[in-house]
Amino acid sequence: MEKIQMKTPLVEMDGDEMTRVLWQQIKEILILPFVDLKTVYFDLGLKHRDETEDQVTIDSANAAKKYGVAVKCATITPNAQRVEEYHLKKMWKSPNGTIRTMLDGTVFRTPILVNGVRPTVRTWEQPITIARHAYGDVYKNSEIRIPGAGKAELVFTGEDGREIRQEIFSFKSPGVVQGIHNLDASITSFAHACFQYALSVKQDLWFSTKDTISKTYDHRFKDIFAELYEQQYREAFEKAGITYFYTLIDDAVARVIRSRGGFIWACKNYDGDVMSDMIATAFGSLAMMTSVLVTPHGQFEYEAAHGTVTRHYYRYLKGEETSTNPVATIFAWTGALRKRGELDELPELTAFADRLEKATLDTIQAGIMTNDLALIYEGEARSVNSRQFLEAIAERMES
Ligand code: NAP
Ligand code: MG
Repeated sequence: MEKIQMKTPLVEMDGDEMTRVLWQQIKEILILPFVDLKTVYFDLGLKHRDETEDQVTIDSANAAKKYGVAVKCATITPNAQRVEEYHLKKMWKSPNGTIRTMLDGTVFRTPILVNGVRPTVRTWEQPITIARHAYGDVYKNSEIRIPGAGKAELVFTGEDGREIRQEIFSFKSPGVVQGIHNLDASITSFAHACFQYALSVKQDLWFSTKDTISKTYDHRFKDIFAELYEQQYREAFEKAGITYFYTLIDDAVARVIRSRGGFIWACKNYDGDVMSDMIATAFGSLAMMTSVLVTPHGQFEYEAAHGTVTRHYYRYLKGEETSTNPVATIFAWTGALRKRGELDELPELTAFADRLEKATLDTIQAGIMTNDLALIYEGEARSVNSRQFLEAIAERMES
């Protein structure tokens, strides 16, 4: 059989632990037999990040900028325990954080639906995609523990010396205080990414904040979205038959639960963090959530939403076979290959991505799956280990 040819390489970002093991198996069993795979490879495994003083993460993000499409394996974000475990020189920052900051992107997370795994919310028939703003707010905050009575103020000193000052609170007793910020430019990029993504998948876009309470901060988000929509997107949305709709976060939560799904829900950084875990879990499993970082300059980085599945990896190191779910990582590869196919006008490559996704879902619908899914599957399920699952998919691909 002739292998499918590629034009431009994918930027391949390898990672850690169990997902690193799956990464190799997915390539070996599901991709290399069919595609003459071209990648520019970066090893973002923690050991190599430490050896290169994290330069490899920066290099990989620059390559993503240059080539346009990347696929990333889950990586460890080191904490104190990991510093000891890997004898690290330093507690390196989250690779995803570094890449996101360099690419200035928005993360879209979509659950993979499969017959037999029913969402906890009965009315959901189509996936709900969360678009999470990935800059600022509480993730880049300054916090002070207030020791006792005194006045906390918010002070801005302009370069011209002009001062804006506002009282936060007059403390009579100990407490806490926090300062957060965001940037018009970042909110604007976020809004562009959301409007463009909605147009590319032809789904309605919802956006929610708490602007009734946060009359300046959250209101700025609402205004930027509204202005951009009116100035640049309304016409295209109407032509595509989709709508943009703003509502309060609490109203959005209620509507999401009553909805049938099939839309994009744009959230501020914290809301997106929390809501994406809720959506993933309610759709069935964190192991079935895909994630793509879309930049305002049209670059794409695909990954699974879950982590490196450490608990399974420790069992793997003891020589046990594990039943770790590779579906979201397979879909990271298919997402990247499909996008490469679209950009390079390679219909065979796009079709391959579709075929691999279908074979993956058909395998599950035929009752063969990893343990996490077997536990929630409605119907007869045979729980297999990761390699057996990948081989069952490959069999379908060949037939
Ligand atoms: P995790 O790797 O997502 O795993 C948490 C638990 O969820 C697992 O122990 C497992 O439950 C279940 N699970 C997740 N993915 C699964 C899969 N594909 N198949 C089957 N079960 C799956 O989260 P974590 O344990 O909190 O984090 C581990 C490491 O991943 C950390 O070092 C963290 O920094 C990193 N992380 C990386 C990313 C990323 O690169 N995008 C994201 C999150 C976390 P059972 O053990 O009950 O089977
Ligand atoms: Mg989270």
